[in-house]
Amino acid sequence: MSAPSGAGSGAQPAVLERSGRQRSLGWRLVWTTLAFCSLFILASVATLTWLAWNTGLARMDAELAQIEQIYSGTLSKAIWELDREALLAHVHSVRDVPAVGRIVVQVALANRPAEVFESTRDGWAGPGRAPTRRLALTYEPYPGAHETVGTLVLQGNEQLLWQQLRRQLATIVLAQLMQSLVLAGLIMLMFNRMVTVHVQRIAAHLAGVGPANLGAQLHLDRAGHAQDELTQLESGVNHLQANLANHLERQQRYEQELADHRDHLARLVAERTAELQTANARLQSLARTDPLTGLPNRRQFDEAKTVEMRRALRTGQGLALLICDIDCFKDYNDHYGHAMGDRCLSAVAHTLQARLARAGDVAARIGGEEFGVILPGTDATGAYLLAQRLVEAVAECGIEHLYSPAARVVTISVGLAVLSPDAHDNFDALFQRADEALYRAKTAGRNQVAGPLGSAA
Ligand code: GH3
Ligand code: MG
Ligand code: MG
Repeated sequence: MSAPSGAGSGAQPAVLERSGRQRSLGWRLVWTTLAFCSLFILASVATLTWLAWNTGLARMDAELAQIEQIYSGTLSKAIWELDREALLAHVHSVRDVPAVGRIVVQVALANRPAEVFESTRDGWAGPGRAPTRRLALTYEPYPGAHETVGTLVLQGNEQLLWQQLRRQLATIVLAQLMQSLVLAGLIMLMFNRMVTVHVQRIAAHLAGVGPANLGAQLHLDRAGHAQDELTQLESGVNHLQANLANHLERQQRYEQELADHRDHLARLVAERTAELQTANARLQSLARTDPLTGLPNRRQFDEAKTVEMRRALRTGQGLALLICDIDCFKDYNDHYGHAMGDRCLSAVAHTLQARLARAGDVAARIGGEEFGVILPGTDATGAYLLAQRLVEAVAECGIEHLYSPAARVVTISVGLAVLSPDAHDNFDALFQRADEALYRAKTAGRNQVAGPLGSAA
């Protein structure tokens, strides 16, 4: 597989920009090689120059020795024969040899100072570092007789030595330079082909890698290569990508699981909250409801009394309270049984509830067989009429009660009280008055209403 799409030429400048000033590794290698080559050239040129100088010296010395060999015989003969012209001709001839800077022939004369024949090359400034050879000239006039006739001194041409050295030096430097440049170029070429292009490819690939294409593997196009550092790098990058992809995949899975878990928890919490709210509402309702009759219990009655009392005092509208008590209920229980008593209680409760016409009216079971009825916005006349209807309704139910002195059926007595316009009145006082009225109804014969306007009042 090739590098990921978009990771090619477009991504490379981004990489280059990010890392600021860029210098190619190949160029740095070339400059380093050239610097090393310069030092190497210096050292090798010095060595080669020294060798060339010594070689030149040796060659010149050999040349001078050859000249000695060639000319010693003819010079000795010319001296022996006192042929001055031939001697001078030979001296000039030797001087014309390029290796010779100066030639001196000293002719030994008996009892006289030696005669000197010498010739010097034009511009010769002394032997300097050039070699000098000295040879005794001998002549053999007849076999076995060796006569020393003079001395030959040959001094080398130093200028020639320097000239040759300069030529050789130029050749050496040129060759070394060429060699270094070719070497640097070759290194650059090889480095580019073997490393730079692949490193650039890796950089472009890495620049284009993101979470979406971590699966796109790096593949370096290197035919027939051995296992080397680039191969290691390639497999390292692919390994890293694979690990990252795995890691990302695992992380996404964990995040998904976490989100699912969170949703599940949220659902559970919502369900439990709803259940709790329902249970709470039910509990609240149960706590405020009498289980036998289904009517509001004493607690709800107390809540309602507080609310309605405040409302009545604030608005100035009337408030009436009825306390309804089943007559001779103890006797009923005693003769018909407790279960029948419960059914009777329930029937009376439903009868009372059914007769309350207005929405604000509250009938509650406030004791064993006692019911309190709060009638907001109701005056004494209206409350009396309603109480009367309640007494009649219970009697009309026709629940047999043969042991009641009031009637042959179950009846109730009702105590009625209304809120006094006196601002200091309170519910306890109202309740007290209603209870007293109930007592009056009981003592007046039961099955009737007693109150401010009641018959038993
Ligand atoms: P009165 O006419 O003066 O009210 O006489 P009473 O017998 O009704 O009054 P009393 O207070 O003497 O008796 C009330 C009875 O109510 C006593 C009790 O057994 C009965 N009672 C109270 N609560 C319940 C109940 O929940 N179920 C049953 N079956 N009876 C109850
Ligand atoms: Mg009672
Ligand atoms: Mg009673």
